Order: sequence, then structure tokens, then C-alpha cells
Amino acid sequence: MSTTANDRALDLCRYVDASPSPYHAVQESIRRLTAVGFTELHLDDPPTSPGRRFLRSGGALVAWSTEDRPIDAPVRIVAAHTDSPNLRVKPRPDHADHGFQRVAVEVYGSPLLNSWLDRDLGLSGRVMVRDGDPSTVREVLIREDRPVARIPQLAIHLDRGVNENGLVLDPQSDLAPVVGLGDKNLGSFERILADLAGVDTTDVLAWDAMFHEVVSATLAGLNGEFVSAPRLDDLLSCHAGTEALVAASDAASAVVPVLALFDHEEVGSQSPTGAAGPLLPRVLSRHLGQTERPIDSSLVLSVDGAHCTHPSRSHRHDPEHSVRLNAGPVLKINAQARYASDAPGLATVRLAAERAGISLQSFVSRNDMACGSTIGPALSTRTGLRTVDLGVAQLAMHSAREFCGSSDPGDLRTLLIELLTY
Ligand code: ZN
Repeated sequence: MSTTANDRALDLCRYVDASPSPYHAVQESIRRLTAVGFTELHLDDPPTSPGRRFLRSGGALVAWSTEDRPIDAPVRIVAAHTDSPNLRVKPRPDHADHGFQRVAVEVYGSPLLNSWLDRDLGLSGRVMVRDGDPSTVREVLIREDRPVARIPQLAIHLDRGVNENGLVLDPQSDLAPVVGLGDKNLGSFERILADLAGVDTTDVLAWDAMFHEVVSATLAGLNGEFVSAPRLDDLLSCHAGTEALVAASDAASAVVPVLALFDHEEVGSQSPTGAAGPLLPRVLSRHLGQTERPIDSSLVLSVDGAHCTHPSRSHRHDPEHSVRLNAGPVLKINAQARYASDAPGLATVRLAAERAGISLQSFVSRNDMACGSTIGPALSTRTGLRTVDLGVAQLAMHSAREFCGSSDPGDLRTLLIELLTY
């Protein structure tokens, strides 16, 4: 692997480690964008002069540069999602069972539940706190990277058939992590949040809190050919899109580069900060003058993880569409429009890949298996813009720990820069 590819994969690892929750992912992208001159607008701000701007809302972020771009330049939008399947804390989470203190959780999205067992778990998210004046509320991002929680698996001696019959988990009774010892329900969780937020327990009003794997993202394999990390779906694309916007903003170009990161993809995108919500259409009409811009040459790149052909289960994949690691970004195609790609959009991406010297692969699922979906169909419907679904191949999608190639993330970044500047 080249030094450049190695550096880019390590930078992806830093981005993932900085982003245990969607709110932290938005914060990390903003940190990188403000370092190169992007400034914040708020949801209700009027249209402003051309420049490098961003707008955030919870776990969503839209950023763009109209600097030195003509008013009739087409837009090129890189879109991805900040959320990943995980375990989220219930409103009354404390309970005690057989001498253990546990925290009750809800399942968010569709995680591989078994992958959350026997892992050291930290806690992150946002807490809404009373802000001095009794009638005002402040949002505080919190994170605890010590291994404060764990979901221990039942020993094989007490579940002899598990390797033959498979592991079946009851999401209500089997997933509450243990966080300490004690026979009484001590009401300790709000105190943990208050300590992390630096406020009194009585000032904690509400939270969106979730558990995350605490082991850092890392290069892996005999020659560093892999990245092993939590939340690659879809922080890999958030990272590549952020870095592509940083690079594209400094390039001379006749297109307006836009980055759109959404929350709630894993639960269907139906929210104000999800891809089916009004955030991107509002930015396009209010701040980017969409009515003046050509529709036909504008483009949305819906960037999300793709399935690599699994070496032990290749029969789950279409035999003529094998997808490999470190063989280039993957174009995603589905006749039922679960992906938004169409031939004109795919041709545009193929030309960009040729100019950039990047190899591409194609994914299509077997006819006897439904594929997942992405934010692509929602975005193409909402914006009316041609949309292409693509992404980096990975194994173990929706595991607490996912796995991809280490040169593909850099190739995706290069491809997105080409698409955001040409
Ligand atoms: Zn995804």
C-alpha cells in the first residue's frame, strides 16, 4: 500500500474514533471544515453572499462552497449518513438483577446483535440540560471511552446447543449491559450523564445516549491491507465526503460542491434530520438558488457501504458480480429502484473515474435475495436530481466491528473530488 493510501486510511481511523455518535460525527466534520474557512449559518438565517458555509441540525450537516462559482453552475452533492445500528438507552434505564446493575436499552436500526456481546462498551450522545435560567435548555455532547459497560454471553456449559442451533437473542431480556454491582436500583444513570455533562443531576432533562465499542479503529492484515473499525457504515463515506469538500473548495471549478450528511438512515430516514426530511431541499432553495441552476447537469452521489463478496459465503452473492476489497469504489444498481442509480448517472461517474485513474466495481444482488436500501431513492425523489448510489466494499456490515480494504477509502475520496470539481 502506498504511503498516501496508508495516511488516508489512518485519517479515516481518526475520524471514526472521533465519532462515537451521529452528533460527534457532525462535530468532527465541522472541525475539519472550519479549519479551511467554512462558517456556520443557522436554519432560519437569510440567504448570504457567496462563500464557504455549513448548517447543522442534530446529527445532520449540510455544507457547500459557492465561492468563485457562477450563479448558474450545477450542484454536485455528496450525501452519506452519520448514524449506525447500535443500542440506545431507555428513558428509565436503571435496574438491578441478581446483584448486577444494568442499563435498559432499545435496539436502533438492524445491528448484528451477537456482535455486541463480550465487547467493552463506552457511552456517548447528547444531553439536554437546564441552562441557569430555568426556562432555557442547552445541548451538551458527552462521551465516556472507559469500558463502562458489557453484555456478557452465556457460557457454553449453560447453552450446549448454541454452536449447532445458532444463537438466538431476546432483544428485551438479553441486551441490557451490566455497568456495576448492587442489589438496589440506585437511579445512577442520570448521575453518570450529569457527571459527563458537568452539571447537577437535577439539571439533566433528556438525552439521546448510546453505547459504542471502545477499541480504536486500526489498520489490520499482514500488510495493512484492511481497516478494522466500528461504524464504517457509514462514517467511511462521511469522512471521504468531508475531505473531498475540503479539497474541492480550493479547486477552480464550474460546479458547486455540497456535502449532505443525514441522521436516521438506519431507521428509514423519516425525520427532520433524515434524508427524507426537508433539510437539503431547504438549503438548495434558500441558500443555493436552485431555480437558477441546471437540473440536468446537477448530480447527487449517495455514498454508503457496499457488500464485498464473503469468502465463506460467496453463494449469497451474484456469481457474475463479485466485489473485492481494494479493487475500487462500487456502483450499486437495483432494478426495483432500491438504489437510485440510472445509466446516465453511472456514465457520469465512470467518466470521472477514468479521468481520476480509479477502478470501479458493480454490485447487484441475487434475484432471490432483496437488497438493502440507501438514502439515494429518498434524495432523488426529494430533490428531483439525478442520483447515483455508490460506496466502498466492506464485510460484516452492521456488526459492532466492520471490516474494509485500506486503499478503497482513499480511492473514494479521489473519485469524489473529481466529481465535485468537474
Ligand atoms: Zn449505510
